[in-house]
Amino acid sequence: MELPIVECVGCGACQQICPRKCITLDRDSKGFLRPTVNAESCVSCGLCREVCPALNVPNSRPVVGSFAAFHKDKLILRDSSSGGIFHSLASMVLGNGGVVFGAAFDQEWKVRHAYVESKEDLHRLMGSKYVQSQIGDSYRKAKGFLVSGREVLFTGTPCQIAGLKAYLRREYDNLTTLDFICHGVPSPNVWQRYLSEKSKEASAVLGSEARIRSVSFRDKSDSWKRYSLSLGFAKSESRTDDKVFRVSAFHRKDPYMRAFLNDLILRPSCHSCKFKNHNSNSDITVGDFWRCRSAYPKFYNPMGVSLAVCYTSKGLNCMNSNDLSLMPLPVEKIVKSNQSIIRSSEESPKSALFWKRYGEGQSLNTIMDEVSPYRQLLTERFKEWLGNVIYKLRTI
Ligand SMILES: Cc1cc2nc3c(=O)[nH]c(=O)nc-3n(C[C@H](O)[C@H](O)[C@H](O)COP(=O)(O)OP(=O)(O)OC[C@H]3O[C@@H](n4cnc5c(N)ncnc54)[C@H](O)[C@@H]3O)c2cc1C
Ligand code: SF4
Ligand code: SF4
Ligand code: SF4
Repeated sequence: MELPIVECVGCGACQQICPRKCITLDRDSKGFLRPTVNAESCVSCGLCREVCPALNVPNSRPVVGSFAAFHKDKLILRDSSSGGIFHSLASMVLGNGGVVFGAAFDQEWKVRHAYVESKEDLHRLMGSKYVQSQIGDSYRKAKGFLVSGREVLFTGTPCQIAGLKAYLRREYDNLTTLDFICHGVPSPNVWQRYLSEKSKEASAVLGSEARIRSVSFRDKSDSWKRYSLSLGFAKSESRTDDKVFRVSAFHRKDPYMRAFLNDLILRPSCHSCKFKNHNSNSDITVGDFWRCRSAYPKFYNPMGVSLAVCYTSKGLNCMNSNDLSLMPLPVEKIVKSNQSIIRSSEESPKSALFWKRYGEGQSLNTIMDEVSPYRQLLTERFKEWLGNVIYKLRTI
């Protein structure tokens, strides 16, 4: 049975549906998962192709409501990547005795889908992790909860939600799905190399082997807009309450974030994403409202404002929470403000050079100094400023 190669998004729906368990997901040279079919066990039932979102792209749906919003609780807003809509919705579902699926770190700081059943554990799923999350058997587990009548919130990239919906093959009243405006997912291998390089730097400072204690891709210590990628380290033999040594870099300076945001290390399918036409089948899509300050200064919150686009009445209900400050916002303005909702990120022409140097074993700092040096920052900030001015002029 043939499955797509270039278009594969790595959602794992094929593997989870296969009745013969003859599909394995193996990592390619960049660390992205791709399926391999064991032809000897395959009985050609065709289920894997039937549930593959890359082969069965869902139709576009009308928008039933769109908003700007942020969480009223300052601490929750600080710990959320943008406006904290995820936390508000997840709390509703957990309050009803439901289950919430989303991306979490494992013990090696790899990103995998997991589920939580209590508000105390919700912090594991909070915050954007800019690495492709491994779905594992989350679709199968979610189906088990749905069939047993539990309320389920499933969150992930648009392609992961399209994969879940295809895998389930019917609607469930007790399922709500949330995805986000998606720039694309970066290479898990580059993430692992980055962690190893940072751990070496921290070990040199600490004078003994350093162990990672925390990771935040969206540390808002400066502010939401000037977020940093922050890692906390402690000596490997130290106790959990020992002081943590923090390594933190403004996202435009950090080599990993620069490689991600400059489109050097995304999964190839992200450069022609098929789930950017209001068609992932999610109930609600959220994202960052970066241009809020210039266009709606009275609504702006410096700790984060989200955009939300609802496609179903369930999606609309998600916004019906006392936890959120809310402002209706026409979807046209959302699209103008955040083009990633309809447009794929173009692969950088320097991507091949990045991977060549990566293959030679150079450090990420050295590669990025050559491929996309930090002195470009001024140009990037000028572009951002110009974008804000144009958006403001268009929305007046
Ligand atoms: C890889 C990636 C690319 C993104 N690109 C954009 C973009 O181009 N424009 C934009 O406006 N917003 C983008 N976002 C979304 C944005 O960063 C916020 O996550 C989103 O606005 C939700 O924020 P929040 O404050 O409501 O909740 P948060 O608590 O910040 O979000 C947590 C939610 O994100 C999910 N999540 C986190 N990491 C992953 C992952 N690796 N894979 C799947 N699900 C994950 C969790 O399961 C949870 O549902 C991206 C997020 C990710 C992970
Ligand atoms: S055709 Fe059926 S048995 Fe063969 S790999 Fe696909 S799902 Fe498995
Ligand atoms: S179902 Fe998902 S993992 Fe399997 S081939 Fe299709 S896109 Fe790839
Ligand atoms: S850009 Fe598209 S293909 Fe890539 S992770 Fe996001 S939704 Fe999936």
